[in-house]
Amino acid sequence: MQVLENIMLGMLGLVPVPKVDLRNATVFKPGAKCLIIAPHPDDEVIGCYYLLRNSQFSHLVFDVAIVTDDEGLPGLADRRFAETISATEGLNIRQVYRWGFVDGKVIQQAALLKDKLRSSAGLYDYIFSPAPNDTTADHSVVASVALEVVERSKLIWYRSTAFTFKLAHADFIAIGDQDEKALAIRRYVSQREIAFKRTLAFERWESAEHLSNVNSGAEAYIFADLNHLAQVPIDTLSLRSVFAVWSWR
Ligand SMILES: [Zn+2]
Repeated sequence: MQVLENIMLGMLGLVPVPKVDLRNATVFKPGAKCLIIAPHPDDEVIGCYYLLRNSQFSHLVFDVAIVTDDEGLPGLADRRFAETISATEGLNIRQVYRWGFVDGKVIQQAALLKDKLRSSAGLYDYIFSPAPNDTTADHSVVASVALEVVERSKLIWYRSTAFTFKLAHADFIAIGDQDEKALAIRRYVSQREIAFKRTLAFERWESAEHLSNVNSGAEAYIFADLNHLAQVPIDTLSLRSVFAVWSWR
């Protein structure tokens, strides 16, 4: 069906042209060890699914640290962690760590997080974190702790529920199948599905603006450099910020 669509579009001279230079994984040396810091169970898949799925990055070693999963409800923490394990099955992940911080209260445990991250950072070549202008609860705390304790040259920002910089500003991107990612996201049954739908819808819109294949999604990554961060990020959890889409290309 897609092929037919492309042929028809091609006949009409309407084949979309990729506007983004697809900078790839060649900047990484084979075997580079990477730690993805996910403030909550789901951030790793919303922000890094294609990165962990695309063979372009299979020469890298990825571990994931789930910072929080405890919401004070009996059994929920275990369930959320199990959802991450299920959603990331088959992806390029060596180990998923559970750091056990309290959801929504990382700010109160910042000193502990600093120690944890400082002792982990030495084991990795790269640390992937949400960016400091991320407006989602816990995310900005994780980012500012990362800024403080991780060498800047090792630090890479990814986007999760908050689109903190534009695809066009990415240092590299990871591309993949959006439907496949949506299936993985559906494993997080204890989470808010509406927010996931909005995040994926935004990703689809943005990818269609920049990629030639409209079924593809793109995740964006930049090396820590505050200059590239958007002044007004789009937080897909907040309906209000979705109106900023008008000025987002
Ligand atoms: Zn989160």
